[in-house]
Amino acid sequence: MKKIIVMGAGGFIGSHLVKKLKSLGHWVKGIDLKYPEFSESLADEFVIGDLRLLAFCQEHITDSIDEIYQLAADMGGAGYLFTGENDFDVVHNSALINLNVAKCAIDSRVDKIFFSSSACIYPKVNQQDPNNPNCEESSAYPAEPDSEYGWEKLFAERLYTSAKRNYHINIRIARFHNVYGPEGTFDSGKEKVPAALCRKVAMAKNNETIEIWGKGTQTRSFLYIDDCIEGVIQLMDSNYSQPLNIGSEEMISINELANLIIDISNKSLGLSHIEGPVGVQGRTSNNDLVKSRLGWQPKITLREGLEKTYQWIATQVVSTTATV
Ligand code: NAD
Repeated sequence: MKKIIVMGAGGFIGSHLVKKLKSLGHWVKGIDLKYPEFSESLADEFVIGDLRLLAFCQEHITDSIDEIYQLAADMGGAGYLFTGENDFDVVHNSALINLNVAKCAIDSRVDKIFFSSSACIYPKVNQQDPNNPNCEESSAYPAEPDSEYGWEKLFAERLYTSAKRNYHINIRIARFHNVYGPEGTFDSGKEKVPAALCRKVAMAKNNETIEIWGKGTQTRSFLYIDDCIEGVIQLMDSNYSQPLNIGSEEMISINELANLIIDISNKSLGLSHIEGPVGVQGRTSNNDLVKSRLGWQPKITLREGLEKTYQWIATQVVSTTATV
C-alpha cells in the first residue's frame, strides 16, 4: 500500500483516479479547492486548500508521501481557454501550483510524481489540416501552442523534467487528449465539447436545432475516462519518464460528434452554426509511442463512451430542471 496524494481530486479526472487508486488498495489524500460535485470522494482524507500557496503545499507534501498525481489546474473547455478572457489566470494559477508542487516534491524526496499535461501543447502549425493533424510526441518542438493554457503545460513539462535532471525526481508526464465521461462538468462554463453537446441534445425538443460553435468541420478525438485512468496507472507503473500521449485515435469532426450524440438520444434535431471559439482545425492523438512503450490503447469506442456519458448528462439535466 502506497501513500498517495491526488491533487485536483475534486475535479473530473482526479475524482475518478481516487476511486481507482482506492480500488488498488492505496492510502489516498485528495486535495482540491472543492469537493467532487457529483459523488462523494473515496479518499481516506480530503483537504480543501489552495495549492497556489507554498505553505499549504509544504504542510501536505511531506516525506511520508510515496507518490503524487498532480492534476490540479485552472482549466476548462474552448469557451474558457480559447476566448483569451481567462489567459492570465489560467497561466498564473496553474504555474504557481506546479512551481510549488515541484519544489515541495524535491524538498520532501517524493518517490514519484505524475503530471497531467495536454494535447494543447502541440504546435498550431501542425494542426491546420482537419484531416491530417500531427500530434506525435516528438513534434512538440519548435513550440507554438495555440493557447496560453498550452504554453503553461509546456512550461510545466519542462519544470518537472528539470526536477528530474537536477534532483533525480522520478516523473511521469501524460499528454491527455479530450477526456470525457460521466461526472464531468456539463454546465459550469468550463465544460468541454462532448459534455456541452450532450447537454444541448438532452435539453432540446424534437425538431429543434442545437448550436455549434464555428463551422463544426474541425476534428478532434475523445478519450473515455476509464481508458484515461487505465493509461495513467500503466504509465505510472512503467519506467518511461518522457511525455506520452494518452488519447484516442478515433478522429471525428464536431458536426459528426453532434450527429452521433443526436443519434444516441433517438431525437430528431438539426445543427445551427454560430460564432464561437473553435481552437485548431484538427487534432487527434498519435498512439504509436504509447503503444510501443506501455502496450496501452483505448478499449472503449467513442459511441460506447458517449452512450454512457449522454445517459448520465440526460439524467442530470432532468433532475436539475425538476428542482428549478
Ligand atoms: P478539472 O477542472 O475537473 O479538475 C482540475 C481540478 O483542479 C479542479 O477540481 C480544481 O478545483 C482544482 N484546482 C484548480 N486550482 C486549484 C488550486 N489552486 N488548488 C487546489 N486545487 C485546484 O479538470 P480535469 O478535466 O479533471 O483535468 C485534470 C487535469 O488534466 C488538468 O491538469 C487538466 O489540465 C488536464 N487535462 C485534462 C483534459 C481533459 O480533457 N479533461 C485534457 C488535457 C489535460
